[in-house]
Amino acid sequence: MLTIDDFKPSKKLGQNFLVDESVAEREAEYLDCNGKSVLEIGAGTGNLTEKILEAGAREITAIEKDARLARELRVKFVEEKKIEIEHADFLEREVGGEAGKAKKIDRIASNVPYCISSPLLFKLTEYDFDLAVLCLQKEFVEHMVAKPGNKKYSRLSVTSQTCFEMEVMELVPPYAFRPQPKVSSAIIRVKKTGKEIEKETAKVLTNIFSHKKNTIRKAVISSAVGLNLEKKQAMEVADSLEEKNERVFTLEPERALAISRKIGEKCGKIG
Ligand code: SAH
Repeated sequence: MLTIDDFKPSKKLGQNFLVDESVAEREAEYLDCNGKSVLEIGAGTGNLTEKILEAGAREITAIEKDARLARELRVKFVEEKKIEIEHADFLEREVGGEAGKAKKIDRIASNVPYCISSPLLFKLTEYDFDLAVLCLQKEFVEHMVAKPGNKKYSRLSVTSQTCFEMEVMELVPPYAFRPQPKVSSAIIRVKKTGKEIEKETAKVLTNIFSHKKNTIRKAVISSAVGLNLEKKQAMEVADSLEEKNERVFTLEPERALAISRKIGEKCGKIG
């Protein structure tokens, strides 16, 4: 059996394995998974998978992108009928799994490969689940939960706070992992709110938040290229907004979205 000691971890795949068993046990507790179906993303060495099984999960689908680890996981859990190992890239995976078989998942768990934190979160909005437990970079979580006016308030805060209800459960120090990441981590519990953000609105939001310290007026003008407008057209849109003098990073999520939607509509008419 492969152990962490003779396995050369891939940085590109964000392989930092959780070696502190008590943290994995608490994650399984937060997941509240007795009798539930669980999807685990990036199962790695199967350490968290084991704790989820011990916590009474009814069935576990464990996804792992690294072929070497997927193979080892199959060996490790060969006797375990409740665990299905899927060698796949979660970001490319069809929501229903292989062959698109649609089945509702009760829980999602992941010690997230940090390099895919953002796309993984967006992908989660496509899944139907009741509760997810995720271990992410602490700094990333701070951006997710940051309030308007805070330096860390960003597009990620608006989208996370619109699509998810979030609860920070605990901080995890680098030495809980091997190899040790350079940064601390945080475990959060996530529920879906059921709200979605339309594609066009998301595009405007991304654009204006790349100039978040500016006024909305200036942010729209600076986003002309991204909004497919001529500079003059962008100025016209910017000047027509009654909120034009407010700073982007002070807008509550709902207002940030409403204003982005409005900008999107105006751009559609002009462009
Ligand atoms: N759950 C394990 C591993 C965490 S490291 C633990 O707690 O120790 C993150 C894992 O995600 C690695 O095993 C890595 O190979 C895997 N991974 C990285 N990108 C992935 C992707 N796109 N889809 C599925 N798994 C991925």
